[in-house]
Amino acid sequence: MTLARRPVKRRRALADLVDDAVLRALATPSNLRLGREIVARGEVEFVDFGRFRVVARVGGGQWRTFELKSMPAGLRWKCTCTGRRERLCKHGVATGLAVRRRTRRKVAAKT
Ligand SMILES: [Zn+2]
Repeated sequence: MTLARRPVKRRRALADLVDDAVLRALATPSNLRLGREIVARGEVEFVDFGRFRVVARVGGGQWRTFELKSMPAGLRWKCTCTGRRERLCKHGVATGLAVRRRTRRKVAAKT
């Protein structure tokens, strides 16, 4: 049974992973700024929104599809843009920020 073989390390909810320090470590300053601008313009539309995986359509010029996942080893992502894979693109920054916003709204009592 696969259940018995589950890894000990548990996945963390995406909203807990994408804090400012993580975004700053993964993205360039210019992509951080562009990502914030995309969120400010409301150009993030979630296609799928789960605790460990989200898929979003993200604007900022051309619309791209961004997938963000929480894995036992940490964040994994995929974007349809041509940005470098090992750095988070502006679509990824925008998606991360939008995940936090949406989650914060749901759990308003938490600080
Ligand atoms: Zn991208």
